[in-house]
Amino acid sequence: MTGFDTRAIHAGQAFDPLTGAVIPPVYQTSTFVQEHVGGLRSGYEYTRGTNPTRDALQTLIADLEGGRHGLSFASGLAAEDAVLRGLLRPGDHVLMGDDVYGGTHRLANQILVPWGVELSTVEMSNLDHVAAALRPNTRMLWVETPSNPLMKVSDIAALSEIGHGHDCVVVVDNTFSTPALQRPLALGADVVVHSATKYLGGHSDVLGGLVATDDERMAEQVGFLQYAAGAVSAPWEVFLTIRGIKTLSLRMHRHSDNAEAVAESLLEHPAVEQVFYPGLPDHAGHQVAAAQMTRFSGMVSFALRGGAEAARTFAEATSVFQLAESLGGVESLVNYPAQMTHASVRGTELEVPDNIIRLSVGIEDTDDLVSDVAQALAQV
Ligand code: PLP
Repeated sequence: MTGFDTRAIHAGQAFDPLTGAVIPPVYQTSTFVQEHVGGLRSGYEYTRGTNPTRDALQTLIADLEGGRHGLSFASGLAAEDAVLRGLLRPGDHVLMGDDVYGGTHRLANQILVPWGVELSTVEMSNLDHVAAALRPNTRMLWVETPSNPLMKVSDIAALSEIGHGHDCVVVVDNTFSTPALQRPLALGADVVVHSATKYLGGHSDVLGGLVATDDERMAEQVGFLQYAAGAVSAPWEVFLTIRGIKTLSLRMHRHSDNAEAVAESLLEHPAVEQVFYPGLPDHAGHQVAAAQMTRFSGMVSFALRGGAEAARTFAEATSVFQLAESLGGVESLVNYPAQMTHASVRGTELEVPDNIIRLSVGIEDTDDLVSDVAQALAQV
């Protein structure tokens, strides 16, 4: 099995040997009967430790990201927590992008920092700034690309080189691209994290987080946190995520087609000040994005000339795009970051301007999406 689309459907998902069921069963069980004391059947003992359904997803994400190890968690933040606490120690410094997901910054700032980890942020798309921001004790670079919501693009290969030259683990949050469009491990990163809640699940019906790495030691350290702190994903959530991933590639191409059309329609509109989409040739990160992504995914942000009032009006005026947090589902969503997803970082260096709108462009008919944006813009 060499093709990505084939592996998305088959990796870790052999048919059930007992019945021939084409879909691996949902092992909705907390524990496993032992043959005698310590006599585990196929190694299974207790679901916080291992569960066959979770094993299937862990094998699948490892395969798709091109690493040997995958770990599945209850949410994206649970996965991030295990990576941060598994790979850092008090006294270490983590350098994060200055526009990472607000919850990632909150986790580091309010949980890791009181534990003794140092945190600072930098514009990850500027390699000189990154090199200058390294400290003697910097042990991790945390990269999110494209970033949320301003779609800044960071050069994964160059950052991996800088990080490795400084004895740092390079972590990439691949939520916005997914392995269908971007493979950070092949570009030199050590660890990939995902909010599987988004494109991987793909249907806005499941919360989940995933980690993939090719490094045995890191897999063990993060895996220990998974087991010892226990934020594992439940079998039913895992089943839904696996089902979502089967159509990942198809969806990501359609998301990209629709996002390109929406971004182009925004470019021409007089009410729009700036469009942030890495697929646009004049986007600051377009060259790097074109080199490390195969398509540009479904997230589009834009700034309105009319300021906060125009942005709020737009967010409440769409009809196909529904007003909600989150992203990456088949349905289109509109978000007003300043008061929704990014309200928690107001007043920090991660604050988002109040005239920005973020669209998660779904897989509905392109014309319906473009006309919905146009009718909402006519009202601002
Ligand atoms: N990373 C990114 C880029 C996200 O957008 C999110 C959630 O919005 C997360 C991580 C956190 O994931 P979750 O909400 O599944 O905990």
